[in-house]
Amino acid sequence: MSSPARSWRRRLAEPLTPRDVAQAGLCIGCGACGAGQGALAWDRFGQLKPADDWAGNAVPAFDQFCPFSPDARNEDAIAAERFPAPARRDERIGSFEAAYVGHVAEGEYRAGGSSGGMVSWVAAELLRRGLIDGVAHVVPVDPTRGDRFFRYRISRSVDEIGEGARSRYYPVELSAVFDEIRAVPGRYAIVGVPCFIKATNLLRDVDSVIAERVAFTLGLFCGHMKSARLVESFAWQLNAPMDQVRAVEYRQKNPDRPANWYTAHLTLADGSARWQDWMHLADGDWGAGFFQNNACNYCDDVMGETADIAFGDAWVEPYSSDGRGTNVVIVRSPEVQRIVAEAIGERRLTLDPVDADFIANTQAAGLRQRRDGLAYRLRFAPPRLPLRKRVAPGGEALPLRRKLIYRTRRRISSGSHRLFATARALHWPRLYLSWARLALGLYGALAYLRGPLGRLVGRLSDDDRNSW
Ligand SMILES: Cc1cc2nc3c(=O)[nH]c(=O)nc-3n(C[C@H](O)[C@H](O)[C@H](O)COP(=O)(O)OP(=O)(O)OC[C@H]3O[C@@H](n4cnc5c(N)ncnc54)[C@H](O)[C@@H]3O)c2cc1C
Ligand code: SF4
Ligand code: SF4
Repeated sequence: MSSPARSWRRRLAEPLTPRDVAQAGLCIGCGACGAGQGALAWDRFGQLKPADDWAGNAVPAFDQFCPFSPDARNEDAIAAERFPAPARRDERIGSFEAAYVGHVAEGEYRAGGSSGGMVSWVAAELLRRGLIDGVAHVVPVDPTRGDRFFRYRISRSVDEIGEGARSRYYPVELSAVFDEIRAVPGRYAIVGVPCFIKATNLLRDVDSVIAERVAFTLGLFCGHMKSARLVESFAWQLNAPMDQVRAVEYRQKNPDRPANWYTAHLTLADGSARWQDWMHLADGDWGAGFFQNNACNYCDDVMGETADIAFGDAWVEPYSSDGRGTNVVIVRSPEVQRIVAEAIGERRLTLDPVDADFIANTQAAGLRQRRDGLAYRLRFAPPRLPLRKRVAPGGEALPLRRKLIYRTRRRISSGSHRLFATARALHWPRLYLSWARLALGLYGALAYLRGPLGRLVGRLSDDDRNSW
């Protein structure tokens, strides 16, 4: 009997546990199951997983709130309950009241944010208006005082919210946040990638205290989750001893350069800094999938469809060339829409209304990966638990080149975890870096028709577009 069938048969006989989801390679490490149980722990690939004894035991209502449980409600069902009468609905971007492109006009939110500063502004505005007492989001922490560079924290002032600005492509988890929310009465907002917001909403269904206290959810659009090894890879490539790295920026902002030219930046213990553009790194192509969590291969929510408001980058011209950063924003909750509309009227926000096509265009690659790509993966690499996705297995009719892109991306994700673990154990960075350059060369040939191999692929392919 195949291992997927075996694990599902066991699941039918016994309650699903966090360990089952982790062993099936479907745990995104959100930490929802750890609330009241224990924190998540690092696995050997630098991902957070429910690992201690509690993870093998039945956790009350786990099959209802784990975002990768086969029995959990999907994004459509959650959105239908949370936003019962949306002004508009679009299969790609979800239910919404309004959608915008732009940035924060007041204060330093835009300069301090990864994109247009809208996430920090909305969090701060909810606090200023007294609608919440705290916001759970991700802040940098001193790696010498623990084993990580970032963690979730509940910030309770506008200044504290500012300390968390910018995107952290690093594993973080919510168990301590839910514990604090349960322990300390108040109203809270939670910032998170779509699956974390899905977990939060599912938890609200089964936990009356969380339901009462989590007042708002702020979603981040999401390409995929990276492991902590990406930071170590940066350090190897920037000749920075890992034990000297004190702070990490994934996207150092530079108003004079295009927003989509990401720069990795490390600050060392002696105060010096090392940095390099992602495009010059062996694994610096986001779309190639280096260090991606396997659960992301089975995700179909790009734009935080269950969040009250969701934010991304405007990855279309002229915005992608504007290094100051520009958001796209989807407002789903009527209450949040009133706040945003008021601030636009007061010129505190510079936001122009856009339609669903505009938003979908800014995330075209992410949508392809989570629609056509997901359909294809569900067929050639079905998940080890019978997940109920909104996309059916398929993809037979996709052009060969696209199939090869999806297969290569998946191989790069799994290969990067394993090769890096081996290179790390052997203290032999070149093993991983040489492999990564080769893998990226192959991916570049398939996705962008780069180099001699790319030219050959272009000649043989029925699809000569330069797209990933
Ligand atoms: C893993 C990941 C993948 C992403 N993929 C895409 C994508 O494919 N397309 C796209 O358009 N946008 C993506 N984003 C969102 C994008 O990077 C910006 O976060 C978003 O545009 C908001 O920018 P801002 O200037 O408004 O936010 P800022 O004002 O900079 O505030 C960002 C807020 O998000 C919080 N935060 C940062 N990292 C995390 C995290 N890992 N988990 C939870 N909260 C966090 C911070 O604490 C802060 O409160 C991704 C973000 C993450 C974390
Ligand atoms: S996805 Fe979240 S809730 Fe599910 S097992 Fe992993 S950490 Fe727990
Ligand atoms: S791609 Fe999906 S599963 Fe992966 S981190 Fe993003 S929202 Fe979660």
